[in-house]
Parts: sequence; structure tokens; C-alpha cells
Amino acid sequence: MRFALYWDHRSPQGLQRPVQRLIEGVLGIEGDVDECDRLMLTGFDLLRRQYNAQVLLTCLEAVQRRRGGRDPILLVVPDDLYVPREEYVFGLARPSQGTAVVSTARLHNDFYGRSPSEDDLVDRIAKEGAHEIGHLLGLEHCSERECVMYAPHSLDELDRKRKMCCAPCAARLRGNT
Ligand SMILES: [Zn+2]
Ligand SMILES: [Zn+2]
Repeated sequence: MRFALYWDHRSPQGLQRPVQRLIEGVLGIEGDVDECDRLMLTGFDLLRRQYNAQVLLTCLEAVQRRRGGRDPILLVVPDDLYVPREEYVFGLARPSQGTAVVSTARLHNDFYGRSPSEDDLVDRIAKEGAHEIGHLLGLEHCSERECVMYAPHSLDELDRKRKMCCAPCAARLRGNT
């Protein structure tokens, strides 16, 4: 099994490989980077200026079908995401389809008025990406605050997580992959 990292051409460039390698390290499976500039994305809400993450995942349905596989696909977009009844989400996974999406919009220091750091950005995309792919590999949310499968409610909670699974999540992952 390999994961596919679909990197929207508008997402921050030059970070694909470092993010891929970090996710590989967290999950213990290898991945491939796919630059995508032909993906038709729908689900933009003009009033919220955000994409509906559920609609984006439905856009990925066709991609997954074309690939003919069940291997995890993670799309990285620069746009802010929401799901109905939530102000925003960092990412979303749909395990029944093997598809997930992560937004870089709220992972930049600049978004919070802090000085920019590419290292912070790479770390956060990798943690969020590994988290969503973790769902695609059968993992659920974990109450261990440092585990990558912990569901963060803020940037600080995301930063507190380590780039690894806790022992029980790691054991579950080994059993599933
Ligand atoms: Zn989650
Ligand atoms: Zn855990």
C-alpha cells in the first residue's frame, strides 16, 4: 500500500517532498507526490470564502475511481475549509472512499500574526496529513495529546502533537497495513 499526495498547484511550493517524507516517517508507509493542476474543484462558498470539505472529497471520488485502487489519497489545498455546522476544519477524511483533504490556510504563522516559518508549515501539513491518512488506514481519534491522531482544536494543540503515533495507535496501524 502507498499513499498518493495530490498537491494543488496553488498550495505552497517546494514543500511536497519534505511533507511526503515526514508522513512516511509517521505512518511507516511510502507515498508518491502527484502535482495536480487539472483537478476540477467544486464546493466554494462565495459568502464564507471557504470550500466545503465534503464537496471536495466528492470531487476526489472520480480520481480514486480512475486510479482503480483503495490506496489513500490526500489532497493538499491552500483554501480554507469548512463542514456544515463548523466554522472551519484543518482537514477531513472519508475512509469509505480512501480520500482526504488538508488545507494549508490556517497552518501558516502569518494567519495568526506570527512571523513566517517554512519549517513550522511543513511540520503542520505533515501532522495534519498523517492524521487524515491515519483515518483512511482505520485509525480513530486518540485522547493522547501528543499522538498524531489527537484531534486539535487550535494551532497550539496541533503544534503540541508529535510527529508520531502513540503506542496503541501504532500497534493498530501495524495491524491494519
Ligand atoms: Zn481526525
Ligand atoms: Zn494515539
